[in-house]
Amino acid sequence: MGKIHELDNILADQIAAGEVIERPASIVKELVENSLDAHSHRVDIIVENSGLDSVRVIDDGDGIAAEDVKLAFHRHATSKINSRHDLFKVQTMGFRGEALPSIASVADVTLTTAQAGQEEGAMIHLRGGKELAMKPAGARQGTDIKVTDLFFNTPARLKYLKSPQTELARITDIINRLALANPAVAFSFTHNGRELFRSAGNNNLQQVVAAIYGVQAGRKMLEVKGEDNDFKISGFVSLPELTRASRQYITITINHRYVRNFELTKAIIQGYESKLMVGRYPLAVINIDLDPVLVDVNVHPAKREVRLSKEQQLTKLISKVIRKRIAVENLIPNVDADQ
Ligand code: ADP
Ligand code: MG
Repeated sequence: MGKIHELDNILADQIAAGEVIERPASIVKELVENSLDAHSHRVDIIVENSGLDSVRVIDDGDGIAAEDVKLAFHRHATSKINSRHDLFKVQTMGFRGEALPSIASVADVTLTTAQAGQEEGAMIHLRGGKELAMKPAGARQGTDIKVTDLFFNTPARLKYLKSPQTELARITDIINRLALANPAVAFSFTHNGRELFRSAGNNNLQQVVAAIYGVQAGRKMLEVKGEDNDFKISGFVSLPELTRASRQYITITINHRYVRNFELTKAIIQGYESKLMVGRYPLAVINIDLDPVLVDVNVHPAKREVRLSKEQQLTKLISKVIRKRIAVENLIPNVDADQ
């Protein structure tokens, strides 16, 4: 007698959710990335009780066609790639078609959406992967999605969450990185009715840095730029005198996707040569523009890690650009010296 059977969809989604949706911050990340992929200019994030009560993301993006709303919650349903060919040159944040079904399988989700020029939008309500309601809704262009009762049906996950302060810190961290990666988008972040962060969306990266790390820090950032045949680098790095005790104030984005990469982080630090004290690290935001064929983002379900072709060439370029910029700075008398 055979024992093998296929799992039902909801169970399969819950298993996928185990990898993609670890905590409230993962929900914020996935929802905001969807807003960015939908060409939003404004993204408002409203969180209650560190996301344990609710996470809501409102955008002014493309919206979802009413006939696609149900499909958006099916696993491996996506509007972002079509073929195997596309997988090797992903231009969007998402492409796996996993976030919405994963979130809906472990929470209560209400999504309201409308596209430009439509007479009405659509609203769908799901809980634990089951559709509870779907009806016409207002025609405000964009998408408004609210997630409550996270992990109500996966008690082990719920227990594994850290303190509300820690979960809030993780949410704040991911919003900061997304804002740094997308200075042309206006973000706001409200927690328990209090606005914690806002960016203007005027493509001024230094302003975003100042909004996150403080005005003083913003003033001590140097703009860096450089390119070779494959890579284009731009961003801000702190003067060697402005450092922190950890590497977490370094943000690296590849084609505006926030990534973690040890080698690239090391390259930034190496650009300072011997100018940093032991155990001290700079603040930095570095965006790398490259042809998407040079990066494989399909390494990790949460897409935080990526594999790069020509990584050595890139690390050399990063170090060189920073080293040169800091050398120039040292030639100019420090205007702040007597303050
Ligand atoms: P992916 O982002 O990998 O495609 P998701 O499960 O996150 O998968 O979303 C499924 C689909 O729903 C997306 O491909 C997109 O077409 C649509 N979608 C989700 N969120 C939004 C949004 N905020 N605005 C417009 N479309 C969205
Ligand atoms: Mg997505």
